Amino acid sequence: MEEKLDALVLRTADYGEYDRMLTLFTLQKGKISAAAKGVRKPAAKLRFAAQPFCFAEYVLAERGGRRTVVSASNTDGFYALREDVRKFYAAAAVCGLCDALLYENIVSEELFLRAVNALKEMCEGDELLALLSFFLHALALSGYALAPLLCASCGGELGEHACFDLSEGCFTCSACARGAGVSPSTLQVMRYCTGGQGAPQALPEEGKLRAVKLLYAYFRTKTDTRVKAAEELLRLP
Ligand SMILES: [Zn+2]
Repeated sequence: MEEKLDALVLRTADYGEYDRMLTLFTLQKGKISAAAKGVRKPAAKLRFAAQPFCFAEYVLAERGGRRTVVSASNTDGFYALREDVRKFYAAAAVCGLCDALLYENIVSEELFLRAVNALKEMCEGDELLALLSFFLHALALSGYALAPLLCASCGGELGEHACFDLSEGCFTCSACARGAGVSPSTLQVMRYCTGGQGAPQALPEEGKLRAVKLLYAYFRTKTDTRVKAAEELLRLP
């Protein structure tokens, strides 16, 4: 039986002499695995389809529950992501988050479209803002939505300084102070990403990275999984 699926490569693992196992996020069937035979040969026609971030229409053959790539036609290779180390890790973090949050064979059209859009945005614009926006939606779609940016204890505005409670995913004002302190620059970025407040050009770089760090720490608390690319991104100079 053959099937045609729109898919994004989330992860690859080499095996055999020239083969590669792909973890694909498909629009129609959710997360699945498929073997790509011979794709590590230098002249392999399907070499492109076995690369991270490849977004293509795959034709897969299924036999006894195992899938093999028969052919693929490229939709977008997101090549700009391979030319910039920060874009690369931000994109790999999107794929890693999908991999961590998705169960096999569970369809999530919204997460799929958001992931593809985030990669597209990263090619053309600010990779950290694209990652943050994707991260917030991915958390919400997985049942870990962040509480609105108001004090979870007294209901008041947060002011310039605030705290974030990792286990509950909520903020508190500096008077109620529950959890770890959040810097003004992080709050500024979170305000932009959750409510569109402020101009993207005026957001401090350091605040964007801190916001990624905050969301990743929250994600770790909730899922107890690691996304190595997110850690690499946070370690970049
Ligand atoms: Zn308060």
